[in-house]
Amino acid sequence: MERIAFVKKEDCTSCNQCADSLPRYFQMDDNDTAESHIQGRQINQAPIPEDDQRLVQNEMDECPGECIHWKT
Ligand code: SF4
Repeated sequence: MERIAFVKKEDCTSCNQCADSLPRYFQMDDNDTAESHIQGRQINQAPIPEDDQRLVQNEMDECPGECIHWKT
């Protein structure tokens, strides 16, 4: 089952870590805060396929702002 990943932007430290290590699902916006995406679309509401959820979970765990979340 897909899960939606998003960044709580107000808590993002602009460290670029998620965008650097998983650019397929994370990018920086014009204000240098991160957001999830799928090929530049579904901005900050990216549906992550089950097979890649572990990769995204790893970014969540490593994010210094603890600001990447699954939508429940
Ligand atoms: S890893 Fe976290 S704090 Fe760093 S850019 Fe990504 S969302 Fe922001």
